[in-house]
Order: sequence, then C-alpha cells, then structure tokens
Amino acid sequence: MTKHLKVPKKDAQRYISVMRSADGIDNNYQIQKGSDFVLIPLNQDFTWQETVPGSEVVDAEGQLSKTKFLPKEAGGAFDLIGEIAITKIREEGRAMELARRLVLTHPNIKAVYLDRGISGEYRLRDLKLLSGSEIYLTKYRENGIMFQLDVSKVYFSPRLATERMLVSKEVTDGETVIDLFAGVGPFALNIAKARAAIIIAIDSNPHAIEFLRKNVANNSLRGKITSYCADSAEKIVEFHDVDRIIMNLPHEAFSFVIAAKKSLKAGGIINYYEILNVQELEERMETFRDMGFELVAKRVVHGYSKTQSMYSLTLRKLRE
Ligand code: SAM
Repeated sequence: MTKHLKVPKKDAQRYISVMRSADGIDNNYQIQKGSDFVLIPLNQDFTWQETVPGSEVVDAEGQLSKTKFLPKEAGGAFDLIGEIAITKIREEGRAMELARRLVLTHPNIKAVYLDRGISGEYRLRDLKLLSGSEIYLTKYRENGIMFQLDVSKVYFSPRLATERMLVSKEVTDGETVIDLFAGVGPFALNIAKARAAIIIAIDSNPHAIEFLRKNVANNSLRGKITSYCADSAEKIVEFHDVDRIIMNLPHEAFSFVIAAKKSLKAGGIINYYEILNVQELEERMETFRDMGFELVAKRVVHGYSKTQSMYSLTLRKLRE
C-alpha cells in the first residue's frame, strides 16, 4: 500500500498541477481515476497540508508507472548504470539535491555518486557517494545484453550504447575484429550478439578483463570473443590481416594508430573515437588522409564541453 491523495475528480487537475510544482507526486506510480475521485500517489517526504473538504490522504494499492519520469532539471545530468546513478554536476548543493530526489523517486536507484574526474591508464572515476548505499557492483542491460561491472574498478559509459549498436550493424558475419581498449566488453559483446564475428578483446585492466569474461559467459552470443589482459601496443603486433579495429580510448587512441594500421588488412576499417573541437577534427581528418586512410563516416557520439565533442570516425585503410 502507498499513500495517495484522494481528491474529487472535478478538482483533480488543480491538485495535480499544485503538487507537481511542489514535487509531491511519486512518479513511480500512476495517477488512478475512480468514478468521481482521483488518487494521486504521494512522495514519501511530502506532507499534504491543504485542508480542503473532499480531499484526504488514503492508503491505496499503487499501480506502477509504465514510464520512468526523471526530475525536471535532471535531464542529461547523470548517467544511469543499472542501480547506480553518476552525476558530474560540480555545484555541491545542486548535486546533493539531484541525488536526494533520485533516490526518493526511483526505488531502483540504490546509489548516487559524484564523478570528480576520470584518470589513469584504466580510466577510473573518482567517486564520492552523495546518496543511497555505497554499492559499486551493478548489472546493466544494453541492446539486449546483460553486463556486470564494478564502477569503482573499471571504466564504463552508457552514453555509447547507440554508437555500439551502430558499429555492430556495420560488422558482417565472419569478420575478424580487434577491440583494442575493450573494458568490460560493450563493443565486443554488441558485435558478438549481432554477428557471427571473431573478436579479439584487449584491455590492460585485469578487473575489466575479469568482468568481460563473466559477461561473455552470461550472454548468448553469435560471435566468438577471445580476451587478453595486455597492453594493446604490445599485443596488437601478434595479429595480421584484421578486418576491423575498434579504438575507444578517446584521449590517447591516436598514438596507437600506426600500430593498428599494420595489423589491418588493405581495405580494413578502424572505428576511431576522439574528443576534439571542430578545428582539431579538420586537422585530424587531414592527418588520416595523409596516413593512407579514407574517411567513410563521421558522427558526433556526444557533447563533451562547450567546444568539444566525442567524434566517431570510420576510417578505411587504402594503402600501407
Ligand atoms: N571500450 C570500453 C567501453 O566502451 O566501455 C572501454 C573504453 S575506456 C575509455 C578505455 C579502456 O582502455 C579502459 O578499460 C582501459 O583500462 C584501457 N586501456 C588504457 N590504456 C590501455 C593500453 N595501453 N592497453 C590496453 N588497454 C588500455
């Protein structure tokens, strides 16, 4: 049973708009209509003070909402990885307010962390708990694939879900693909789910490879993934005539391009990611042309700062 405000049908719209502006409605539940009354689900911390004849707080069976509403100002302000929300809002008061509201309005969110920055070779987040319990292990579903990961031990961003799906559709059955900075395997698994490809996944973080292997074991995949915990620059020299290489290490990937190109067959593809502004993008594309690549496609994956975005470049190797 959950607390609802029972109001006469003729006054319902007025109550709903007053309570919405006071953040009094629990959006996890539906507003239910009776013959001459309406039941409005109440937020746990909301106290109804207006005493109007005909309105009363009652316990009623809540009907779960089919849509997950987010707080108005929260759009885009946090990433949700399973039960864990991560925000980068710098201003502490706003971050705390968002965290409190997320935990109150979303029973499925168990922890809200502030991301104070990503650093180091493994690209780990410096996390500070804002609200909820200090849990790091979570399950996350993307494009029909279940991932398990620990947000304190591995890098993961749900913002690339669409990009990973697009790349998986570019791959054809039988392709040999190297995922050079594989993390817990989101590119590798998206491809293996969609295509009967042969995928080599490399990451230097032992925790990432451990989760990647669990994720491979826990999903039903068409492709075959072999994983290595290794430095990509050292490992890639062992592979030749590869059809495709995925390079998702946005700040440093460029320094691996020459090595990657050597392992790629003529006509092979690199899916390359980098954070750039428009001027830097033009220069990068020019450099790739000089290096013997043809630009097949270019798209913005997501914004990064006022002037920079993360770009996805699809490059075809034309010559050695
Ligand atoms: N592709 C994954 C994804 O979409 O979630 C992970 C991308 S994350 C930005 C980059 C990954 O590269 C991290 O998991 C990090 O451990 C790994 N990494 C960084 N430098 C590396 C290196 N020299 N060799 C192998 N892996 C490396």
